[in-house]
Amino acid sequence: MVTRQIERRGVRDAAVLTAMRAIPRHEFIPERDRHRAYEDHPVPIGSDQTISQPYMVAVMTERLRLHRKSRVLEIGTGSGYQTAVLATLAAEVFTIERLPELSARARMTLTALGYDNIRYRVEDGSVGWPEAAPFDGIIVTAAAPRVPAALVAQLGDPGVLAAPIGSRGSQDLVTISRSEDGDVTTTHFRCSFVPLIGVEGFPD
Ligand code: SAH
Repeated sequence: MVTRQIERRGVRDAAVLTAMRAIPRHEFIPERDRHRAYEDHPVPIGSDQTISQPYMVAVMTERLRLHRKSRVLEIGTGSGYQTAVLATLAAEVFTIERLPELSARARMTLTALGYDNIRYRVEDGSVGWPEAAPFDGIIVTAAAPRVPAALVAQLGDPGVLAAPIGSRGSQDLVTISRSEDGDVTTTHFRCSFVPLIGVEGFPD
C-alpha cells in the first residue's frame, strides 16, 4: 500500500511513510469490509462514514509538518486510523468526533494498540477545542463549505491547518500555513470527503 499508492505518488516524508507501514490499518475497519483495508480508496466504517483513502491520509499528514513535540487537533475521528498516524508522529493528539459510536470504537482500537497520547471528545468539532489551543497542526477529515473560523483562531504560529473545502459532493484540499510573515492559503487538488456536520459545516 505505502510503496504503490503513496510513495509512487510523491509523498517523501520518511516519518509518515514509516508510520503508515507500521500501523495495522485493517484493525480500524469493521469485520465486513476488513479485506478491503489496503485498497486505494475510502472504505465504509459504519454510520454512513468512511475511513479515508490511504494516499489522502499520507498527503494531509505530510502537509502538517509535524514533529515530536507537536500538538495536533483532528476533526472527524472516524475509524481512528488518521488519529493513529498523527499520534505516532506528534506528542499529543486531540480528536473530536460527532458520532458517539464511532468515537467509542476508535478509542477501543487505539487503546488496544497502545496509544496513550490521544484525547477524545464527542461533539461538533467545527468549533474546535478552545481550551487546548493553540495547535501546531489542525486537520479536518470531513468536507466543510469554508474553513471554519474557530479553527483558524486555534492555529498556533507557526502552524498548519489542512481541510477539504467545497460542496457536499466535491472539495479542494486547502492548507493554511501560519508563520511570522502571516497566513498563506494554498489550494492543492480535488478530493471527496463525507460532510462536516455542524455550526461551521453543513446542516444535518
Ligand atoms: N479520519 C477518519 C475520517 C472519517 S470520515 C478516518 O479516516 O477514519 C469523517 C468523520 O467526521 C466521520 O466519522 C464523521 O462522523 C465526522 N464528522 C462529521 N462532522 C463532524 C463534526 N462537526 N465534528 C466532529 N466530527 C465530525
